[in-house]
Formats: sequence, C-alpha cells, structure tokens
Amino acid sequence: MAITLPIYMDHLATTPVAPEVFEAMRPYFCERFGNPASRSHPFGWVAEEAVEQARAQVAHLLGCKAAEIVWTSGATESNNLAIKGVAAAYREKGRHLITSRIEHHAVLDTCKRLEQEGCQVTYLPVDRTGRVDPGDVERAIRKETILISIMAANNEIGTLQPIVEIGRIAKRHGVLFHTDAAQYVGKLPLSVDDWQVDLLSASAHKCYGPKGVGALYVRMTKPRVKLVPQMDGGGHEKGRRSGTINVPGCVGFGAACALAERELQTEPARLLALRERLRNDLWSKLDYLHLNGHPTDRLPGNLNVSFGFVEGESLLMALKGIAVSSGSACTSATLEPSYVLLALGLNAELAHASIRFGFGRSNTEEEVDYVSARVIESVARLRALSPLYDMALEGIDVKGTQRSLHAC
Ligand SMILES: *Cc1c(COP(=O)(O)O)cnc(C)c1O
Repeated sequence: MAITLPIYMDHLATTPVAPEVFEAMRPYFCERFGNPASRSHPFGWVAEEAVEQARAQVAHLLGCKAAEIVWTSGATESNNLAIKGVAAAYREKGRHLITSRIEHHAVLDTCKRLEQEGCQVTYLPVDRTGRVDPGDVERAIRKETILISIMAANNEIGTLQPIVEIGRIAKRHGVLFHTDAAQYVGKLPLSVDDWQVDLLSASAHKCYGPKGVGALYVRMTKPRVKLVPQMDGGGHEKGRRSGTINVPGCVGFGAACALAERELQTEPARLLALRERLRNDLWSKLDYLHLNGHPTDRLPGNLNVSFGFVEGESLLMALKGIAVSSGSACTSATLEPSYVLLALGLNAELAHASIRFGFGRSNTEEEVDYVSARVIESVARLRALSPLYDMALEGIDVKGTQRSLHAC
C-alpha cells in the first residue's frame, strides 16, 4: 500500500472523528436540531432521546449507570468540575487534596487555584517509569483529605497508574477518588467499579469523537458523591452542569464509545504491535536511546523516546511530513522542557530530545516502517554534526549524559 504524506502519528493529541461517528451526528445539526430541554414538542423529545441513548453508550463503556454521566465540554471541564465541585461540597470535612506531579494541566492548574483559595494539595512524585507509589498515596492521606486525583494514563509518556491499588486505599480511608481517564477511555477496557473510582473524566476527541464534548462520571451510590456545580444557569444535567446540551457532540461521543467497545477486542493488540515494531527497529539501528515511561504498563499506542545528542526541535523539523510531538504537545509552544519528563528524573537535555509517537486507527505497518527509516536517517544526520556524539563514541563521558542514558 502506498504511503500518503503527511502521516498522522499524534493520536494522543487528538483523533479524527470516525466516519460512522460523523454519520451518527449528521442528522442532529439541521433536521433534528431540537433542544432536549424543550419538553412540550417532538423536536425536543427527539433530541432528548438521542442524548439519553448517547449517555447510555458512554455509561456502558465505563460500566456505570447512565444517570451517573454528566455531559461537559471536554476533559478540561470534567476535571475542573470534579475537583472544584468536590472541594466546595466537602469544605466542612476538610481542605486537603492529593494528586501527582505529572497530571495534565487541567488538574494541576485547578489544584493550584484551590491552593490560592486556602486548600492544601500534596503533589506526589513518580518513579523513573512515571508511576505513583500507592504507598505514597496512603501515607499522604490526612483526616482532612477530601479527594485523591490520579490520572489513569499519562498523555505524554503513556504510563498507566496503579488505579486499582489506589482505589482500594481511597475506599479503605473513605476518601473520594477521581481519575482523569481522558487518555484511557476507549483505548483499554475499564470499569469504574473494578477501579473503585468515584469520579472519572473523559473526552470525546481523544477516542474518535468530536472536539468540545466530554463526560464526568459521578458515583451515585456507595457513596453518593456531592458536587457543587461550577456553571450556574438553567439547572441542566440535574443541576450539575447548566447550559444547553451539545446534542450532535453528545451523539458523537456516544457513537464513539460504542465503536470503541467493539474495537477493544482487536485494536489495542494491533497498536501494541505497531509500537513494538517501531521500538525494535529504532533500538536495533540507533544507540543512545532512552524510552520514556514504563516499558510495559503503558498505553499500547504511545512510544516516547529521547534521542541522545539530538535536539527534539531539530528532529521534528527533519521529520517534516510526519505529525508527531516533542516534549509535551500542550507546552510545546514554549521552550520549557516537559515537566512530566523532568518529574521522571530526566535531565533537561534528554527532556528536550524527546519525541512522542501516538499510534491510532489510521496507522499501518507501512507507515511505521517509513517513519522508522526517516527517524533513523535524520538522527544519524543530526548526530554527524554533533561533536558531543563523537566524543561519546570515543568513550569520553559527556556531562554524565552517557551514564544517565545507560541507567535505563
Ligand atoms: C486531552 C487531555 C485533557 C483535556 O481534554 P480536553 O477534552 O481537550 O479538554 C485532559 N487530560 C488528559 C490526560 C488529556 O490527555
């Protein structure tokens, strides 16, 4: 099969809307345009039925009741609603929260905001693979702890957190547990009961649905989670999130979840094979490579590599025609090295030299082979210009770079 450029290998930043998802959404723009809050005529009923069917589809994928799903504008809003909503509702109980240093900005900046308002937040460190130690979570719990928020899968390095263990600890101590699962939902199977999570954030555009739609799962029984709404208005979503529902968006998210559920049988294994194909090829032909994230407990579609003696930005330029991201997709407008990579203990050089490959439905073996060849050739060319690389080959220790590369 011929390859067409550009190649999209950045599926952790966003995904295209799947054709069947788009077809499911289509009627809800021009013909079935009703407002689900209109209770007095069929235009509203038709829209409401579609939104409720979509809610059931999202709930089915997460293993919860439809009534436990709150529609939002995306995982950013879901995280804000979960964390600020719980902080406000449980103020009497306490003002302490626990999270990790490698959360998405939507969690970290929300926590920082709460700190300004008098909350205390513990930011747990991660090990070299990006994992939070459940023992650290347990030790951080205080009498006044109201929420633990730990992401299911990291967007940069793909590392999966020990959610089941953390869920068990949270339950044992009677502390609410939220997880940002924007990168996990639709990519690997999950159940909110197995995880013992009380709140879970999801985003449609990370799993072949449209942008601008998300969901927050809020446990209704054992315990019944209380939330103070963060958007005031007409009292939609049982008062949990006001604002007219994005009907086509929700229909699309529902369809994307139904599609993901079918694809969960085969797609994770296919993406894993593509990732390992690229990894094996790179490691067999290049030296001074550093795998960022956990070697096995990671999203099947994520490969994050630091190329020693190469600048990530130069490599990105050399890879014109291939859409990947360097450092962090969200912070790559700045030249700050990724805080996630720094939290793993990488030095700034290696953090700058990182590329994230994000595999998804459109990617093929042919594309992987093409990308691999281009990366190998570009890295070799850039290193040929690097005096540091020559010195390293001659066995001269270059600012400890070699050691840190070999340590992993
Ligand atoms: C993309 C992402 C978000 C933000 O989701 P939006 O729907 O784009 O607001 C939050 N958390 C993680 C882990 C993500 O990957």
